[in-house]
Amino acid sequence: MDQFDLLVVGAGTGGCMAASTAAKEGLRVGLIDCKLEAKIGEKICGDAISGHHFENLKIPVPKGEEYDSKIQGVKVYAPDLSEVFVVEGPGVSGYIINRHSFGQRFLRMALDSGVEFQDGLLATEPIIESGYVKGVFVKSLIGGQKRTLQAKVTIDASGVVAALRRNLPEEFHIEREVSKKDIMACYREIRGNVEMKSGHCEIYLNQSVARGGYFWIFPRSGSNANVGVGIQADKIGIHPKTQLYDHILTKPMFKGTAIISAGGGYVPTRGPLDCLAANGVMFVGDAACLVNPIHGGGIGPSMISGRLAAGVASEAIERDDVSQKGLWRYNLDYMKAYGAKQAGLDVFRIFLQEITNEELNYGMRQRLVKESDVLKASLEGDLKLSVTDKAERAFRSVRRPEFLIKLRDVAGKMRRTKRHFLNYPAPEEFPEWRAQLRTLH
Ligand SMILES: Cc1cc2nc3c(=O)[nH]c(=O)nc-3n(C[C@H](O)[C@H](O)[C@H](O)COP(=O)(O)OP(=O)(O)OC[C@H]3O[C@@H](n4cnc5c(N)ncnc54)[C@H](O)[C@@H]3O)c2cc1C
Repeated sequence: MDQFDLLVVGAGTGGCMAASTAAKEGLRVGLIDCKLEAKIGEKICGDAISGHHFENLKIPVPKGEEYDSKIQGVKVYAPDLSEVFVVEGPGVSGYIINRHSFGQRFLRMALDSGVEFQDGLLATEPIIESGYVKGVFVKSLIGGQKRTLQAKVTIDASGVVAALRRNLPEEFHIEREVSKKDIMACYREIRGNVEMKSGHCEIYLNQSVARGGYFWIFPRSGSNANVGVGIQADKIGIHPKTQLYDHILTKPMFKGTAIISAGGGYVPTRGPLDCLAANGVMFVGDAACLVNPIHGGGIGPSMISGRLAAGVASEAIERDDVSQKGLWRYNLDYMKAYGAKQAGLDVFRIFLQEITNEELNYGMRQRLVKESDVLKASLEGDLKLSVTDKAERAFRSVRRPEFLIKLRDVAGKMRRTKRHFLNYPAPEEFPEWRAQLRTLH
């Protein structure tokens, strides 16, 4: 019978992590994906992941087929290319992976833990009974049959489509729609024969080429590179592919290069959903907007959220309380582990999206924000403009004092937002906390 303790919709990194964690706790776990088993892990991506995620989650680092190369840091270029910030260190070094093999490893991990996996199965909407999610309606993409899968707790890990979250009734009080302002529309190609030094992921800020986003060139082994562009979805106007072809692939380094793979996708680059659970249902990974809003890295947060959600779901099922209250601790755990930092960084993302190329060039040239600030911010979600060099920064911003003032405001807002998420409330206090959050934005 299709009746599970925990049902996970979506076998991406978030879903597989949730499913395997819960199965190891002894739960009967179902995992479904609309893709066929052999295709799990195929995803249009930059293929970069920071090494600290493996350390923190205590899972093996990429090796064998899933390993492509090592990355020692990130280079961030100013729009006029006159400045480059080289950011290196434990939080930004990591790996370039082969995404398909990486995803297959995660599926294998789930299957080896005893998860029951069904592929080619599309979740169409949640089953709602007495104010609880009790499983999902599914449709086979092979035979077309429709049926139901029931579960005590259902996890939506269906990625940016958020198949369950978007179909919840209003009385669940969960954010169903994500503003286009908070989504990055991306197009990327993997190209062979690219002349590029390995070792650093390159990020180019340029509001006229990548409005509200950036374009990237990430080196891969064997003279290959992953090159792409992400544009704020409400600013799209011109298709990201056109931007890639008109402005990026025209660089001499791409002359005579060949396409190995190509495609597009969306990334929810914003703060986390303000509530990650409701009666009988939880949200992980992209389905909960758990992506680093500055660089768009979402593989790590999807794994973190999958692990944490499954841990809380197991205990709630054991206690026989899968109400929103019973699942509430997941909010606290995730916000502490990553969400508060993510929320802080989101303030900086909005700031970056609103400034001009000229301001970006100026800020980087004058080192009003420095490499060390960027590294710290990426690790902690705070922009700490140090007091010791306050006078020096003021001197450097003498031509545009208003820019430094803006920057200080942003740093303050980042701190307040992060603190607000670290003070995540008890369920009874949530409406007030949510109202306060809206005043912070
Ligand atoms: C162009 C691009 C570049 C990126 N670059 C990077 C990067 O370099 N580093 C990084 O860390 N992150 C990157 N990301 C983000 C990262 O890929 C995601 O954040 C991450 O994959 C999220 O994992 P997930 O498990 O939440 O969702 P997904 O990996 O999207 O998995 C969701 C799964 O759900 C399945 N599914 C969807 N709908 C249904 C349904 N209705 N029924 C059943 N199954 C369903 C899908 O088939 C899929 O297998 C990038 C994203 C894009 C688009």
